[in-house]
Amino acid sequence: MSEDLTPDDSANILSQIQLQDDDYELLEAESPAEQHQDLGALPVVAVIGRPNVGKSTLVNRILGRRAAVVQDHPGVTRDRVRYPAQWAGVDFQLLDTGGWELGVKGLDQMVAAQAEASIQLADVVLFVADAGVGATDTDLQIARILQRCDRPVILVANKVDSSRGEADATALWSLGLGEPFPLSALHGLGSGDLLDKLVALLPEKSQFSKALPPGSPGRVALIGRPNVGKSSLLNTLAGSQRVVVNDLAGTTRDPVDEVIEIAGVPWTFVDTAGIRRRMLKSRGADFYASLRTQAAIEEADVAMVLLDASQELASADIRIIEQVISAGRALVLVNNKWDLLDEERRHDLEREWELQLSHVDWAPRVNLSAKTAWHTNRIQGALAQALAGWRTRISTSELNSFLGRLVAEHPHPVRGGKQPRIMFATQVSMAPPRFVFFTTGFLDPSYRRFIEHRLREEYGFTGSPIQISVRVRERRKRS
Ligand code: GDP
Ligand code: GDP
Repeated sequence: MSEDLTPDDSANILSQIQLQDDDYELLEAESPAEQHQDLGALPVVAVIGRPNVGKSTLVNRILGRRAAVVQDHPGVTRDRVRYPAQWAGVDFQLLDTGGWELGVKGLDQMVAAQAEASIQLADVVLFVADAGVGATDTDLQIARILQRCDRPVILVANKVDSSRGEADATALWSLGLGEPFPLSALHGLGSGDLLDKLVALLPEKSQFSKALPPGSPGRVALIGRPNVGKSSLLNTLAGSQRVVVNDLAGTTRDPVDEVIEIAGVPWTFVDTAGIRRRMLKSRGADFYASLRTQAAIEEADVAMVLLDASQELASADIRIIEQVISAGRALVLVNNKWDLLDEERRHDLEREWELQLSHVDWAPRVNLSAKTAWHTNRIQGALAQALAGWRTRISTSELNSFLGRLVAEHPHPVRGGKQPRIMFATQVSMAPPRFVFFTTGFLDPSYRRFIEHRLREEYGFTGSPIQISVRVRERRKRS
């Protein structure tokens, strides 16, 4: 059995691979453990605007290039992500709104709604418009939301790459948000001044983002379709406890976080106001409910997806589970209303799980009844287990010797006379665990699944999605 790699071994292997500039950046980044911090009460800056105006370019400009590590698929719908940022010694969190695939139906409505959701989480808003294009209808719609929300806003007139474009920037006065700030996010023109202005607007502590209360292991989002029993479970868990409320009344979003003890451990439940309030049954309520679910997932470390075990698994259940996975949060699955199940339904339920949920067989599962409180104490263990899996970190040396053994036993199948080889791998982040593999060719999806399966067997990762990305690189010719 091979020993773990020493740093010298790693350097030796890497010297044999033709690495590119951003590979070095990735390999030199801080260790995942250092990156993972609770951004807690740092003031929040949201970057919003239509697709293609230059939001990601601006985010990357503010962060330096490290964000490139995080983003794999530009141009597709992505989730809101929070990054730690700093300017002139002032720390803040940068909330990247995410993007939408261009050309999808109802794009304008989604852009506006997404912007609204981000605004409500922010202490200061950077609203980015394209100076070359001018104010569009969607820009006006977002401007109206901003006028209502009473947040400090900087209107960024982007793509002003030279002094000739400054006249275009002036035209954005029409949005009614004060003086447009001309910027070239691409070339960096004006970005220092913009950041100075931004930092001057920041409060010392966020009004909307709260540090995790002392002793609380993490934030939980309790989510699920209507009527699966979310408010019942919340009431059962909260019981007669004095609920410590993170009261944000007076804001438009009015999320309320509550600390609820389960089996003696104080978990922080996010946006419980949304659970307690009966959803309005109006047109478009589905869309807003799903936006609210998304926001709760993004606020949380671990999502507890509640299912009504007395009913057939619905496609909406699966969609919510997919939302959690794509947001990269830890996952616990809960079968509620167990008191209603007879022998036959229990049998059917197991079949449904086998057929439709085998791809998340890594998530802890709890069967319980919110009504009778049966097994509700088991939630604590499941949440703790999922969070531990989500925060697992494997050292580079250990990972590479593990992969060495794995490949020796089960090499990648030969394809068209070639056999892709894994040369080196590293875990670039935790919470959720994300790995980058340097290989000599693309890996078959089935081989990737095999690797994921073996990683889970060896290291657990219970309750956590695992992300693996592959960088195909040449081997250096021996000189
Ligand atoms: P997002 O969809 O709002 O995140 O926009 P991106 O940051 O992806 O930028 C969209 C396109 O505009 C990309 O091709 C960028 O290179 C380009 N872009 C961004 N900022 C500028 C800028 O300041 N000047 C110019 N000329 N192009 C820019
Ligand atoms: P929500 O929309 O997800 O918040 O669901 P509710 O908590 O309002 O519950 C919907 C319905 O299911 C209500 O009539 C509850 O009384 C019922 N319910 C919730 N949990 C249970 C349970 O464990 N057993 C049974 N028999 N009924 C339940």
